[in-house]
Amino acid sequence: MTTIKPPVLQLKSVSRHYSQGGRKLSILDGANLEIATGEMVALVAPSGAGKSTLLHIAGLLEPPDAGEVVLAGRTSGRLSDDERTALRRNDVGFVYQFHHLLPEFSALENIMLPQLIHGLDREAAQERASQLLDYMKIGPRAEHRPSELSGGEQQRVAIARAVANAPLILLADEPTGNLDPQTASYVFEALEALVRQSGLSALIATHNHEIARRMDRRVTLQAGQIIETK
Ligand code: ADP
Repeated sequence: MTTIKPPVLQLKSVSRHYSQGGRKLSILDGANLEIATGEMVALVAPSGAGKSTLLHIAGLLEPPDAGEVVLAGRTSGRLSDDERTALRRNDVGFVYQFHHLLPEFSALENIMLPQLIHGLDREAAQERASQLLDYMKIGPRAEHRPSELSGGEQQRVAIARAVANAPLILLADEPTGNLDPQTASYVFEALEALVRQSGLSALIATHNHEIARRMDRRVTLQAGQIIETK
C-alpha cells in the first residue's frame, strides 16, 4: 500500500497587506500554495512583488494578516509562540542573498553552531558539518573564516548551515543573486544535489531563469495570488 504524504508546506488563503503613505498595499490577497515532500519550487517575480514577504510568512518569521500556514501538518496560527519558534527551528532552513555567516567563526564552526544550539554534542556536530562541507565540495576550506572564502564558497557554507539540523523545507531568497552566472550555476548545482539527495523540499526565489527551469515547478506573484507559470 502506498502512503500519500501530506504537503510539507501549505498556504491557505493567505493575505498580507502593508500600508505605505496612507495607501494599502496588498502583497498577498488570499494566496494558496502547496509544496510536496522533495519538491523544488522556483519563485520568480520582479523586485518588490513580495517574494521576501512570502518566504517570511512561509517560514513562520512573520504571521499573515489572514489565512493559514500549515507546516509539517501543523497549523501555525494555532500554536503558541514557543511552539511556532520550535517548529521553525526544527523544520525550516533559510538561505539569503548575503551569506550572514558569523565572521569570527570558521566555515566548519558556522555549520556546527546551529547543531550545538539544537543540543547535539560537539563531536556529532563536527562530523555532520564536515560531511556537509565535503558534500558542498568545500571540505578543504573548513578552517577558513568567511572573509577568506569566495562569494560562491560563502554561499555554499550558508546552504550547508541551513540544512545542518535536517529541516523539512529550505526557503531561499535569491541565494545566487549576488554571484556571477557561472558561480551561480555551480552553487545551485550543489544546492540541488543536496536537496535531491536528502529528500528536502525547497522554495527558492530567483531572478535566474536558467536556475528556475531546473526546478520541478515555477510560481510567480500576481495581484496577490501565487500562480503557476511555465
Ligand atoms: P521582493 O522580495 O519581491 O522584492 P518584498 O516582499 O521585499 O518584495 O516587498 C514587497 C513590497 O512590500 C515592496 O513594495 C515593499 O516596499 C513593501 N514592504 C515590504 N515590507 C514592508 C513593511 N514592513 N512595511 C511597508 N511596506 C513593506
